[in-house]
Amino acid sequence: MSIDRDRLKALFKSTNQTYLGAHFSIAGGIHRALIAAQAYGCTAAQLFTKNAKTWKERRLIDTDIHLFKQAVKDTRITRIASHTSYLINLATPERKKQAKSKRALTGELIRSDALGIPFIVHHPGSHMGSGLEKGLDRIVSAINDIFDDNPGLTPRLLFETTAGQGTGIGHRFEQLADIITRIEAKDRVGVCLDTCHIFAAGYDIRTKKTYWETMERFDDIIGLSNLYFIHLNDSLKAFCSRVDRHAHIGQGAIGMDGFQFVMTDPRLSGIPKIIETPKGSGNEDFDTVNLARLLNFIR
Ligand SMILES: [Zn+2]
Repeated sequence: MSIDRDRLKALFKSTNQTYLGAHFSIAGGIHRALIAAQAYGCTAAQLFTKNAKTWKERRLIDTDIHLFKQAVKDTRITRIASHTSYLINLATPERKKQAKSKRALTGELIRSDALGIPFIVHHPGSHMGSGLEKGLDRIVSAINDIFDDNPGLTPRLLFETTAGQGTGIGHRFEQLADIITRIEAKDRVGVCLDTCHIFAAGYDIRTKKTYWETMERFDDIIGLSNLYFIHLNDSLKAFCSRVDRHAHIGQGAIGMDGFQFVMTDPRLSGIPKIIETPKGSGNEDFDTVNLARLLNFIR
């Protein structure tokens, strides 16, 4: 499929009020992610508020905040999520690492609050062999502590469904339900559903029947009212592989049908959707291709 950004922008305009976008880089400033999103016509965006691969914290300066808020006004993109650092693990049995993780997540909440970002997407964590129940307990008590110590921070913390690699928590809907029901401040938490991760974890969405069964289970166990954000990624790895590798929309093990079901499901129409698919290098611009594929389902 050959499509340029102008055609993609026209496609965005022709679909009424869907919130769709991609994860964009903050190189050159956090506001740059929104400027990049606008260049594609996106109506939603995801970004990191710091380098996600290091523990090094970032303190925002007034200019960061000013430029970001100006970019929100200019681009009119308000459905925004930040994604926490991959290093954070609230479920770890190592005390030092857990304390470090709590500080890092607190920093993320403070930065996102200052920027006016409404959602923070967060991987629940890995129990590192210490057992699922203990891991869940650690996550819940850490989050309750962080919220108690930092009242008044407005971003909603969304626990992402995971593929279940290693000792990762969050690959069964029951695990996420357990976390959010035990968080005291219910108005500060929710869930982000990632199509690649649930598929790799064993929730099929390839046929209409399996898609509806999966969404019914999500609704029964977690509740669709707790779903605030969706990651649309195809899966490079097989169903039930429990391996997290993102593929281009329609070109992985899920295939096009699964994404059509998500895009046309009226229960999900108001929920922001973000792709985290490979970007491509040089002249390749896979975001344009992947976003167009999704918009074609609803134009
Ligand atoms: Zn994701």
